[in-house]
Amino acid sequence: MTDLEKTAKDRGIKHFLISYTDLFGVQRAKLVPARAIGGMAKNGAGFAGFAGGMDMTPAHPDLIALPDPDSFIQLPWKPEVGWLASDLWMDGKIVEQGPRNVLKRLKAEAAEKGLQVKSGVECEFFLITPDGKDVCDTADRQAKPCYDQSALMRQYEVVAEVSDVMSQLGWGPYQTDHEDANGQFEMNWDFDDALVTADRHAFFKYMVRSIAEKHGLRATFMPKPFVDLTGSGCHAHVSAWDGDRNLFADDSDELGMSELGYNFIGGIIHSAEALCALYNPTVNSYKRINAPRTTSGSTWAPNSVTYSGDNRTHMIRVPGGGRFELRLPDGSVNPYILQAATIAAGLDGVENKRNPGKRLDINMYTHGHTVTDAKKLPLNLLDALRTLEKNEMLKQRLGGFIPSFLAKKTEEWNSYCGHLTQWERDHTLDC
Ligand code: ADP
Ligand code: MG
Ligand code: MG
Ligand code: MG
Ligand code: MG
Repeated sequence: MTDLEKTAKDRGIKHFLISYTDLFGVQRAKLVPARAIGGMAKNGAGFAGFAGGMDMTPAHPDLIALPDPDSFIQLPWKPEVGWLASDLWMDGKIVEQGPRNVLKRLKAEAAEKGLQVKSGVECEFFLITPDGKDVCDTADRQAKPCYDQSALMRQYEVVAEVSDVMSQLGWGPYQTDHEDANGQFEMNWDFDDALVTADRHAFFKYMVRSIAEKHGLRATFMPKPFVDLTGSGCHAHVSAWDGDRNLFADDSDELGMSELGYNFIGGIIHSAEALCALYNPTVNSYKRINAPRTTSGSTWAPNSVTYSGDNRTHMIRVPGGGRFELRLPDGSVNPYILQAATIAAGLDGVENKRNPGKRLDINMYTHGHTVTDAKKLPLNLLDALRTLEKNEMLKQRLGGFIPSFLAKKTEEWNSYCGHLTQWERDHTLDC
């Protein structure tokens, strides 16, 4: 009996969701009855990759999703179903463009250097009406809604259920709040190994959507669903460990950051504009970063490539405790590529002893103009993709993922450009 057959028997699982995350960060799955899981555990589930969000054609052989038993989660809101993250195979070989495969390879490369990267993610989301047009709570209209107690409690049924699930799964949830936009929330749980966090991040998005739907709502992680409201980020906190020793911690440093940590940050600063294509991978992403102030008076998203101490106006914040916070990624980031790209750039920084430069302590939103030498973030997806295309380090370290990602995202950009907007009519009809 395979492990998964045994799990089915012990836990009363009737169906398994054999799931993988595609190039766009979307989860695709097959629902497999427990009677067939033995065969699927050995041979995987077959998919037509070109239709399943991968850079493939109908002429490709079957894409095989081989479930990883370590990722198993019994759905607490539907306990007869077990969810499994998968690795992607084709023709007996690992698929290079598979996002989870890429992260596993980067994790192994970091391990060779004696580093275990650990991460915690802050996945902001909106609870909206099922048609996607408005914030679901019509009473949530405050101009400064951050931490609004009443608006938070009006969504108690949804967020408490998500939090209870996380407790049950042993993730260590520790807080939930109403964020800076009407209808926007954030739920935090403990950091862990980068692969564990990526699997949880992927599952979290599915879980929040599912539980919101159960309550007649819709959840979205779209970076900027409403133009006047603060967008949804996906900050990542990062540290590197050797067993239980945090290699980023150094009490003798002003910010408590070790030289290794600064070099890791240096790698991210060095490639930030190219990383932007991966951390902010949608057309909509660029309405969150570089944004003007929203109705709350804040933007929260960075506009330049700078770092600081405990100061939320920069791309990287070092809040102390031997970790840094990457504030660039948004809700559309692929959970696996977020971690893989961070490890790739971090290793580049460590190997080349990259210096992150001088830290800035100013309020970047009000005094950013005084820093003339800070690199600026790309203003749109096309600029970011073109910068990524020129970054040999990321192309080499992320391997086959990059050409496939660039091909699919260029298609997406072209499709966007083929769309005629009202803005163009408003500004050009009388030209
Ligand atoms: P903030 O809103 O102040 O940026 P949050 O409390 O919302 O912070 O999220 C912090 C995240 O960082 C959590 O997921 C937490 O587990 C994680 N974290 C804390 N310490 C570390 C660390 N040493 N390495 C990686 N992640 C960490
Ligand atoms: Mg068929
Ligand atoms: Mg937070
Ligand atoms: Mg937040
Ligand atoms: Mg944060």
